[in-house]
Amino acid sequence: MTVVIDCVAIGDELMKEIVAETETLKAKGITPGIATLLAGDDFGARMYRGQVEKFCEEAGFNYINENPPADVSEEEVVEIVKRLNADKAVSGILPLRPFPEHISDSAVINTIDVNKDIDCFHPFNMGKLALGEPTFPPATPSAVVEILDRYAREYEKMDPKDFYEGAEIVVVGHSNIVGKPVAFLMLNRNATTSVCHVFTSMKGNLEKHTKGADILIVAAGKADLIGPDQVKEGAIVVDVGINRVKVLDEKGEPVLNEKGKPKTKTVGDVSFDAVKDMTKAITPVPGGVGSVTNRMLMKNALRACKMQHGVE
Ligand code: NAP
Repeated sequence: MTVVIDCVAIGDELMKEIVAETETLKAKGITPGIATLLAGDDFGARMYRGQVEKFCEEAGFNYINENPPADVSEEEVVEIVKRLNADKAVSGILPLRPFPEHISDSAVINTIDVNKDIDCFHPFNMGKLALGEPTFPPATPSAVVEILDRYAREYEKMDPKDFYEGAEIVVVGHSNIVGKPVAFLMLNRNATTSVCHVFTSMKGNLEKHTKGADILIVAAGKADLIGPDQVKEGAIVVDVGINRVKVLDEKGEPVLNEKGKPKTKTVGDVSFDAVKDMTKAITPVPGGVGSVTNRMLMKNALRACKMQHGVE
């Protein structure tokens, strides 16, 4: 019987832990805080900013919104980061990308205080991650690990340590934000880790790798990339992808909304209905990894806050 992992419940549990820890810190006169930095008004980044603000409010964190216009200069953005580095009310800084084209990612990211880099963007923290001693494991990859750890304990009755050791893990996607760091986290847990990407697919080799996975982690941003032919019977599948696709009727025609526009829905990279029954466990989309990601960011902000105040 397949386990559809209840990531929403995991997110809720984590939020309770975060709220309790925040209350303990506040009783000592310390309030954690997150600052987001959005230059311009990219739609996706704006949505994410709103979510971070909402979660900060729920957890009792300070929240600072830095939102200069799209024509802000690179020097001005760097100055904002320096100001946030020095601001004691800010435990963690989250730059929201994409930046406008005239602003280089590295100019901004390399300015962030490494002790406030709560989504592990800075090369120093990425280096520590690669060395197996991350201070701030990035939010989405650590959400994947949190989900798998909890699955291992609850359903496999295993210590997560034993769960990963020697397991065949395949990651699809090698972005700096998800694929690479999740692969490092798996290697750090002694899993046999392979990473596939667009060139694996172009060579027609994707299935060869994914079919061998005990644990398949997919983060490509391509709806229906992974179907039954790409999954081993009894595998555990974690679908990180988030895609908006048109809703189709039985004839394959787009279903229209009341305004006459095609209805859309959110799906992952895995064809959930076709794959679900052949897996041992699977995460859904929506209601999957995304329900845990923001919580991991907040946990990093709490860690940063405690480090900055010398609290254990
Ligand atoms: P990205 O930067 O676009 O990277 C996508 C990766 O997938 C790239 O490494 C790309 O390879 C690879 N890829 C693309 N098409 C492929 C194919 N046909 N076969 C094999 N590999 C392929 O995206 P990202 O930021 O890593 O995000 C990935 C997905 O996760 C997106 O859907 C995003 O919305 C979602 N996401 C979810 C969360 C969450 O909390 N659930 C958080 C962040 C991101 P190349 O680089 O070689 O082209």
